[in-house]
Amino acid sequence: MTSEPIIAARGVTRRFGGLVALDNVDLDVPCGIVQAIIGPNGSGKTTLLNALSGASHADAGSIRIGGNEIFRLKPHRIARLGLARTFQTIRIFENLSVIENVKVAAACHTPTSLFNIVTSNARQQQSEAEINNSSREALEIVGLSDRAEHTPNQLSGGQQQRVAIARALSNQPSLVLADEPTGNLDSRTSIEIMGVFQKLNEQGITIVMVTHELDIAQYTKRMVVMRDGKVVSDTPVPKRLNAENESRRLQEEQKAVQLAD
Ligand code: ADP
Ligand code: MG
Repeated sequence: MTSEPIIAARGVTRRFGGLVALDNVDLDVPCGIVQAIIGPNGSGKTTLLNALSGASHADAGSIRIGGNEIFRLKPHRIARLGLARTFQTIRIFENLSVIENVKVAAACHTPTSLFNIVTSNARQQQSEAEINNSSREALEIVGLSDRAEHTPNQLSGGQQQRVAIARALSNQPSLVLADEPTGNLDSRTSIEIMGVFQKLNEQGITIVMVTHELDIAQYTKRMVVMRDGKVVSDTPVPKRLNAENESRRLQEEQKAVQLAD
């Protein structure tokens, strides 16, 4: 781990016509953290993730990712930053199986990390066997190995979200930006997704997760609060929840309710 933040954003401003979606946003994300960005709908969270991932520009300000000024990088350099993201609306192919979905994503990537936090070799292209292996590994991490040959319509919402995360992991990223990964999921499934992120974090991957749910942010280490395009606070999470423990507690609670019935 380095002491330099993996993300350093300064004065980031984005306007849509007269609307200021991001208003002079400063943000430091320490390396190796699970960071929540929380705020009500319309507060600018997705716009900020779009800028952080290099998917859209800003009207003013700078964003350094692993020391690289993202707005000055050419697209192929951005693709090699070791950065992956998932979207607010799950983006997976309905007509492909789970494993094919991950392989398609893996085949698109050049697994070269500039950060060298997660060791990834400087290979230029993966062979078919390597794509197969890294895709199976990604499915294993999200706990979907037994669903590899299923199609997305045979999966629950939580499982589909995990396919989206596995696709992101096929890039062997050092930094994952996730937009509302627990949106529309029940609490048990949301905790499972947080378990996946906590596991990834233990392997050294930095996670930035957007959510509008305060209880989900309790699984992270730091919480940035946004309102009307501004960062209004940035604080450590005092008593971070452990997804595995919470999942167990929830199961026991449900058992107790069933016994009482
Ligand atoms: P959040 O993700 O926190 O719900 P967004 O970043 O999606 O918020 O949106 C912030 C504000 O910017 C909202 O008022 C939204 O309507 C506006 N906005 C976002 N994207 C666009 C766009 N492409 N064109 C116009 N307005 C947009
Ligand atoms: Mg959003």
